[in-house]
This record gives sequence, C-alpha cells and structure tokens, in this order.
Amino acid sequence: MSSRYRIYMASEAWLESPARYEALRSADFRCRICNVPSDEVPLQAHHRTYERLGAELPEDLTALCLLCHREVTNFLAARRYALQQPPTIVDVVIQERAPLWDASMAAGSAA
Ligand SMILES: [Zn+2]
Repeated sequence: MSSRYRIYMASEAWLESPARYEALRSADFRCRICNVPSDEVPLQAHHRTYERLGAELPEDLTALCLLCHREVTNFLAARRYALQQPPTIVDVVIQERAPLWDASMAAGSAA
C-alpha cells in the first residue's frame, strides 16, 4: 500500500467523499456480504477499482464491514499472488548428489 493511498484514506476528502457516502447509503448502511448494520461493526467503503482514486464514482466502491473488508482484501491479495507468472529464469544450481544406494553392491549381492 503506497503512502499516497494511506494519506488519502485518512483525509477529509475521502471521509467526506460523496461517492463513499453513496456506496454506504445505497447498501442501507449494511455490509454487502454479511448484512451486519454499521452500528454493530464499523462499515467501510471497499475500492473495487483504484482507477479513479481521489475522484471515485459510487460504483467504484462497495460497502463492507471491517471484518468482511479484511477477508476480501486478503482473498484478493492471495488471488493476485496465485495468478503471478513464475519466474522464467531460475538461478538455483542443483548440486550433484550421492546416489541413495550403491548399484554395484546390489548387483553383487544376488545369491
Ligand atoms: Zn461483513
């Protein structure tokens, strides 16, 4: 998370954003996932996109309680990680290993 984002999230511009208010109001001040009302658990506006960060439209946001917001954020981070392409160049050198058994001993032990 960038420092610019953190500063914006703590700003009056964000807290008083009409888009943020509309996202919460249109959800009837309830979490869009678990339906808990905002007087039981703090309600937050989740960014569905950061495309217009600082000038969000109501549809860029969705109302989530603090607990669901954490879960969604973790889920999305895990999914982004899972979708990352593996590195194309591997810089690990695989060492020659001693064999697990001595093939010459096994051949010679047949009775
Ligand atoms: Zn919730």
